[in-house]
Amino acid sequence: LRLTRADLDALPNYVPGRSPADLARELGLPEAIKLASNEVPYGPLPGVVEAVAEAAAGVHRYPDMGVVALRQALADRYEVDVDRVATGCGSVALAEHLVRATCLPGDELVYSWRSFEAYPIIAATSGATSVRVPNDAGHGHDLTAMAAAVTDRTRMILVCNPNNPTGTAVRRTELDRFLDAVPEDVLVVIDEAYREFVTDPEVPDGLSYADRPNVAVLRTLSKAWGLAGLRIGFLVAQPQVAAAVRKVVTPFSTSAAAQAGALAALAQADEVYRRCALVVAERDRVTEALGKLVPDVPASQANFLWLPLGDRSLEFGKACEARGVIVRPFPGDGVRVTIGTPAENDAFLAAAESALA
Ligand code: PMP
Repeated sequence: LRLTRADLDALPNYVPGRSPADLARELGLPEAIKLASNEVPYGPLPGVVEAVAEAAAGVHRYPDMGVVALRQALADRYEVDVDRVATGCGSVALAEHLVRATCLPGDELVYSWRSFEAYPIIAATSGATSVRVPNDAGHGHDLTAMAAAVTDRTRMILVCNPNNPTGTAVRRTELDRFLDAVPEDVLVVIDEAYREFVTDPEVPDGLSYADRPNVAVLRTLSKAWGLAGLRIGFLVAQPQVAAAVRKVVTPFSTSAAAQAGALAALAQADEVYRRCALVVAERDRVTEALGKLVPDVPASQANFLWLPLGDRSLEFGKACEARGVIVRPFPGDGVRVTIGTPAENDAFLAAAESALA
């Protein structure tokens, strides 16, 4: 008896990686170090726990479906009209809503590969056809090839900037040229989950393109803003696109706790940028140390690094785990490691050194 779609069998699962508690138990350690999901390691921002606790008093009621206060706070912070903002259960859900809002079965979704592992899953489950354009030799997006991949079936293009998992970022001149080349009726989604860690001034803020009719920008509060567990992301797009996303969203998927926590976090922008600067300093230190162990680590504009270890990736991931450090191997391709605290990064570097010895 088969009740579900046969094509799902061939689809990979989204793999969040090993549970730190399980690994610590297995190794008999007080705790394992998790550098696998690109979180910031400094705990919730001040005021967030209290705001969520306060929201907890009202959890017998549905949350505000219109997400009015939070959307207004986002609109104020990013200086856009509120009707251009939509929120969702993580930016990954918003990416899915955008595909649902743009693609009918058989329509094409173009993205660079390797990029965020959710993209092929979202495409397949939405009935869209994935068109993967190989990364360039520097592990980044080949925007010329991506523009050339557009056909009359293309409805949407995902530009992940900086790119997960390689950390590379496209620059303004390349992106300008690309956006000029893409037909106006194709939605270009700039996924900026890691925007707050960008330090290269040549890497443009996607919101500076948001006045173009066919550009949408995805951001998340999971990374720099420290709210991964509350599941909240947002979108800035033209009003018609934002309204379509609000239409296809699962009702009430921005929870009361998420709305309250996000409002408290947004009041802490200075602290967010202070924390990001710590992460960036560690990113530079780890990049340099790793350069002596692994050739070809691309410069990262995000809070993680990419180790292009090819066939050794899985083995490297296991060797790090055996030393109590969870990283994210992509078998046959590379390993992504999140920047943690200085002590966590030192533990990773020691594990990497012995794994590669
Ligand atoms: N986009 C990219 C590029 C990501 O790396 C991630 C998280 N791994 C997301 C979107 C989704 O983040 P969230 O759903 O937590 O907002």
